[in-house]
Amino acid sequence: MSTLKVTDLHVSVTDEEEKTEREILKGVDLTINTGETHAIMGPNGTGKSTLSETIMGNPNYIVTQGDVTIDGESILGKPVDERARLGLFLAMQYPAEIKGITNAEFMRAAINSRRADDDQISIRSFLKELDKNIKTLNMTEEMTERYLNEGFSGGEKKRNEILQLMMIKPKFAILDEIDSGLDIDALQVVAQGVNEMASPDFGTLMITHYQRLLNYIHPDQVHVMMDGRIVKTGDASLAEELEEKGYAGLRDELGIDA
Ligand code: ADP
Ligand code: MG
Ligand code: MG
Repeated sequence: MSTLKVTDLHVSVTDEEEKTEREILKGVDLTINTGETHAIMGPNGTGKSTLSETIMGNPNYIVTQGDVTIDGESILGKPVDERARLGLFLAMQYPAEIKGITNAEFMRAAINSRRADDDQISIRSFLKELDKNIKTLNMTEEMTERYLNEGFSGGEKKRNEILQLMMIKPKFAILDEIDSGLDIDALQVVAQGVNEMASPDFGTLMITHYQRLLNYIHPDQVHVMMDGRIVKTGDASLAEELEEKGYAGLRDELGIDA
């Protein structure tokens, strides 16, 4: 078993115009073991993407206090590619388009960069695996030959993030609003892909705005984030409770100022 642990994490961003630092995360604690599925829900602008970008190592996010560890070892000093080699994967809320590298080339490079020199994936097994996963996700082969995310619709980008996830097989995946912009059919397909990943060697953190995704991917724990803090943790029923009360209702219940 592996453990991704976030302890008392405080993160600031720099306001370019005012040249000031603003604290976004105000002490986040979270422990995810392989084999577990966690969900973070919360209103817009509370720091969910900040948390995922910080865990993955985006240098725009300044850690002022606390730690992020994998199996007890801090990863905060490590660049993104090293974190990836340690088993982290982030499906970004807004995946970037990259010209000059095809989707398939990107995935093969991503897989091989995580493997030892004498253990590189053969083209044959790569293509076999790709073919299988494309079918699961109802994608076309043609999409893998296009430049990364270029000309993909919002929904295709989200599917493509899950294709990468299935090909790369990380230890921990953070899925940031993987459900946004998906119709119900696409949502089911994406959920099936994520569910196929389930194993004792894989842990997921799903970030979502809506309870809907959790009808298809069942979390062991649900965390609610508000204003840079996790204010409540519970089982899957917390998501339903939230759907009924709304974030405002929970705010009242917990006595948090709006
Ligand atoms: P969420 O994902 O919960 O909607 P975000 O983490 O994206 O929230 O944003 C939280 C706050 O941090 C927002 O006020 C947002 O404007 C600010 N923020 C996030 N990233 C940056 C950045 N790179 N530079 C400046 N401000 C940022
Ligand atoms: Mg947002
Ligand atoms: Mg976000």
